[in-house]
Amino acid sequence: MYDVRYSYLLEQFSDPAPILAEIGRLVATGDFTLGKPVAEFEKRFAELIGVRHAIGVGSGTDALKLPLKALGIGHGDEVITAANTFIATVGAIAETGAKPVLVDCDDSFCMNVDYVEAAITAKTKAIMPVQLTGEVTDMGKLMAIAQRHNIPVVEDACQGILSEFAGKRSGTHGIAAGFSLHPLKNLNVWGDAGVVVTNDDGMNEKLRLIRNHGMKNRDEIAILGCNSRLDSLQAVVGNWLIGQTSEITRRRIENAAYYDAGLAGLPGLRVPPRRPNVKHVYHLYMVFAERRDELYKYCLDNGIEAKIHYPIPLYQQEGLKHLGYAPGTFPVTDRHAKEVISFPVDQHLTRAQQDRVIETVRKFCHGR
Ligand SMILES: *Cc1c(COP(=O)(O)O)cnc(C)c1O
Repeated sequence: MYDVRYSYLLEQFSDPAPILAEIGRLVATGDFTLGKPVAEFEKRFAELIGVRHAIGVGSGTDALKLPLKALGIGHGDEVITAANTFIATVGAIAETGAKPVLVDCDDSFCMNVDYVEAAITAKTKAIMPVQLTGEVTDMGKLMAIAQRHNIPVVEDACQGILSEFAGKRSGTHGIAAGFSLHPLKNLNVWGDAGVVVTNDDGMNEKLRLIRNHGMKNRDEIAILGCNSRLDSLQAVVGNWLIGQTSEITRRRIENAAYYDAGLAGLPGLRVPPRRPNVKHVYHLYMVFAERRDELYKYCLDNGIEAKIHYPIPLYQQEGLKHLGYAPGTFPVTDRHAKEVISFPVDQHLTRAQQDRVIETVRKFCHGR
């Protein structure tokens, strides 16, 4: 057992009774697929992000894949995304049949948009920036590039709920965006679930068809789709939690600021630059450490459950070898894999726990 644990799920759902009572009422109606709780959640999620439409789907991965499919993307096409992302981004692109094309990141952990133009070819059919850690890609520059080349942007906002670039919410920049409600995300449910948001009425209609086998009604198939509906049961959990999203975000930002102050100026440790035009929502609180592996072990040995997101760059993974990237292709991503370390930053963390983390890291940096 750790004194400072990473997962807060036991605290978050320590009193499941009100949710279970709601689920009991759902069971009494038999409204299990695309019913009232799903419609309610979609309405509230669209309001939360400030978009016209939210479409509940089966997972965050599907929330990325389905808009690409709605754009008609498939075999022979290319989709540009960030080299240092979670596997699901690249997996969602690959699942459509398109080729994922990677560009390196910068110390915001997001795609370095200065590399995007060089990656565009005649086959590029979409750009998928990833709002990794709750930071935000330079959406001003990226949207200008995308518009110049007439390429749609689909945001991977799975880690970025309520984050903003220049006052504009993640999820509202491109034609569509995907969010995840996975248990490890800032707004989370009791299993797999995701949401696509869009301001485009045509995209909305297509997504609603695609997630439900392309069925216009019980007898007619309008397009080829799949089965990826937001589960009604998970929508009940989502409806219970969604009202807390702003408070969850506020707490994470506050906790991060406390860490930033406590960890500033330590030898061998670097807090990433905080960009004034970005609202970072701290899905992850990540810093750079020169002797990262030693610090990581020191934390675990001293009761702090730190994490590494992620120790092996995707492009160097066995399962992605066929993309054909040679070692060293993405030097910043490589450096991050060696230097990043994450500390718990969730809304249930106490100040005493944060002090334990800060004190432990300070001790390590000052040679114990
Ligand atoms: C979690 C996550 C996903 C996928 O979400 P799932 O709900 O797990 O399918 C995609 N991209 C990023 C960056 C994520 O963190």
